[in-house]
Amino acid sequence: MNISGQYSPAPDRYDSMTYKRCGRSGLMLPAVSLGLWHNFGGVDSLENARAMLRRAFDLGITHFDLANNYGPPYGSAEKTFGRLFAQDFAPLRDELIISSKAGWDMWPGPYGDWGSRKYLVASLDQSLERMGLDYVDIFYHHRPDPETPLEETIGALDFIVRSGRALYAGISMYPPDFTRRAVEMLRSLGTPCLIHQPNYSLLDRWVEDGLLEVLTDEGVGCIVFSPLAQGLLTDRYLDGIPEGSRAARDDSYLSRSQVTDGVVATVRRLNDVAAARGQTMAQMAVAWVLHQSGVTSALIGASRPGQVEEAVAALDHLEFAADELETIDAVLGD
Ligand code: NDP
Repeated sequence: MNISGQYSPAPDRYDSMTYKRCGRSGLMLPAVSLGLWHNFGGVDSLENARAMLRRAFDLGITHFDLANNYGPPYGSAEKTFGRLFAQDFAPLRDELIISSKAGWDMWPGPYGDWGSRKYLVASLDQSLERMGLDYVDIFYHHRPDPETPLEETIGALDFIVRSGRALYAGISMYPPDFTRRAVEMLRSLGTPCLIHQPNYSLLDRWVEDGLLEVLTDEGVGCIVFSPLAQGLLTDRYLDGIPEGSRAARDDSYLSRSQVTDGVVATVRRLNDVAAARGQTMAQMAVAWVLHQSGVTSALIGASRPGQVEEAVAALDHLEFAADELETIDAVLGD
């Protein structure tokens, strides 16, 4: 693929992707979305980042997920995205859903972290500048803040939408009770909560313990991050920790110590289930989160275009037979 020349998106890009309604909203999201947490930073290859974004869009992935502090260094994934957006995607702005977030540490001092109105509004203004955008489609509060009154954080999200900086508001990692309160507050202000972004995978099923129920009740969409458990739920670590993998990188949030013998043994057994379904481990991991009703989109990461292709191919086989689900539960329960 020539990735340095002018980008012409694939004419058949909408032919095979599945688009799902995000809660009780008007917005459809692709069943697979691409996140730019890793591999889009200032330390990473710009050409590889370009190749991944182009391949994703050609496959019908219309949603790219960012945050203020994605990099490294912080902010650099938004800068990379801004460069590539200007070169490749600017004429396609209305075909794209671009999100950003604030809530984790971003700049020094008391105004660059957590959930104050001061932080959220200033951070989004910085994000828009880095990306060269007038607005983002979705802006999230990135994590619950136990100290700031929820009214203030939610009021800031409402203001952000009303001021035109974002089209929709979302929350991330809020537990069920906090979620219900946030959703009710947003609704009362006239800015419905579009979406929640929690982590969910075969290796971490906390959302089944109340959160998915709240979201379904309230008509809020759910985009689940790290469905591959950062790569653990692929064949990446079945024979050790390869050089260049996320667990081998010093700047990642997956440490070598998380690749335990126990996890690898579990993934081996899940891999057998996947093979019997005619899927790779990664594909079954994506299909499994999507088969859960209430999940709108699987938010994957990738370090190369082929990984995006592999995840999208999971959509060819989303159904699970009852005995497959039983076997999976048995493996995870052991
Ligand atoms: P995944 O669980 O999908 O992990 C992605 C990583 O797995 C890749 O970078 C790659 O790592 C490896 N991988 C992917 N496909 C394959 C494959 N087919 N074979 C082998 N290895 C594979 O998601 P992420 O953890 O990257 O998170 C996805 C997105 O979720 C982020 O970009 C971000 O947008 C969002 N997120 C949100 C958070 C929040 O708090 N709201 C927190 C974390 C993420 P390798 O480098 O080893 O190739």
